[in-house]
Amino acid sequence: MAGGITDQAPVRTRFAPSPTGLLHLGHAFSALTAQHLATPGQFLLRIEDIDRTRCRPEYETAIYDDLHWLGLDWPVPVMRQSDRMGAYRDALEQLEKLGVLYPCRCRRGDIRAALSAPQEGVEGPDGLIYPGTCRNRPMSAAGPDDVIRLNSAAAFDNLGIDEVSFTETSGSGNTPNTLTQKQFMNSVGDVALARRGMGTSYHLAVAVDDAAQDITKVVRGKDLFDSTWIHVLLQKLLKLPAPLYHHHDLIRDDSGKRLAKRDDARSLRQLRDAGASADGIRHSLGIS
Ligand code: GLU
Repeated sequence: MAGGITDQAPVRTRFAPSPTGLLHLGHAFSALTAQHLATPGQFLLRIEDIDRTRCRPEYETAIYDDLHWLGLDWPVPVMRQSDRMGAYRDALEQLEKLGVLYPCRCRRGDIRAALSAPQEGVEGPDGLIYPGTCRNRPMSAAGPDDVIRLNSAAAFDNLGIDEVSFTETSGSGNTPNTLTQKQFMNSVGDVALARRGMGTSYHLAVAVDDAAQDITKVVRGKDLFDSTWIHVLLQKLLKLPAPLYHHHDLIRDDSGKRLAKRDDARSLRQLRDAGASADGIRHSLGIS
C-alpha cells in the first residue's frame, strides 16, 4: 500500500491508576501487560484522580517513581482526569441532549429499602442495581446534591439497538462478547454518570478519556469486565471509537485473596525497600 500505510491502526494501550494508595504487584502486572501488548505501539499513562477526597499527591509521585523503577516509560505530559472536568461536562451535556439522563435523589438507604425483595438486590459493576425510583424525573428538576444516572432503557432505544458487544483480545485470538438489553437492565442497570461532588463518575471519565487518548486496546483486570458494558454503551451514545479489550487475570496472595492497595506489605515500595529488583518482579509476574 502507498506510503506503507496499512489498515491496522498502531496499538495504543494505557495504564490508568488512581493515586489513592501505593501500587502493588497487581498494578505492576497490569502496567507491564499493557506495555507488553503495546509492543510495537505506544504505552500511555493516565492518572485517574477524580475522587479528590481519596487521591493524594504523594501517591501520584509514588506511581511515577515505582513505574520508572519497573522500567516503564510513557509520553508526557501525562493525562490527569482532574484536569478534564470540562470534557466530562461536555459529554454529559451531549447525553442530556439525547434524553438519556435523569437526576436521582435516592441515598443508599433509599435504594436498599426499595430493593427489599431478595431477588431484586442484585449487585452490578456499580453496587446494587438501581431500582429506577427517580427514572421519570426530568433533568430540569436536578438539584445540586443529585446523582445523574444513565437511563439505560432510553439509551438502547435512542440507539435503536437491543444488544451491546465488544471484542476481547488475548494470545489465543479475538472473542466477541454480547449483552442483550434485558441482560444489561438486569445486571448493570441505570448507573451513575456524575456523582455528588465529583462532576463525573469513573465510567463516564474512562469512556471519554480512552477515546481522547486514542486507546486501541484497553488493558485492565478482570474485575472491570462487567464495567465494560457501560463503557461500550457510552461510546455508542457519544459516537466514540470502540477499542479492543484485554481483561487480564488478577494477582492474588497466597490465600487466593485479590491484592488491594491497603495490603501495604505487598506494595512495590515495600518490595523495593526489602531489596527486590525490577527484573525479579517482572520475572515473578511472568513478564520479562
Ligand atoms: N482507575 C482504575 C483503577 O485504578 C482503573 C481503570 C481502568 O483501567 O479502566 O482501578
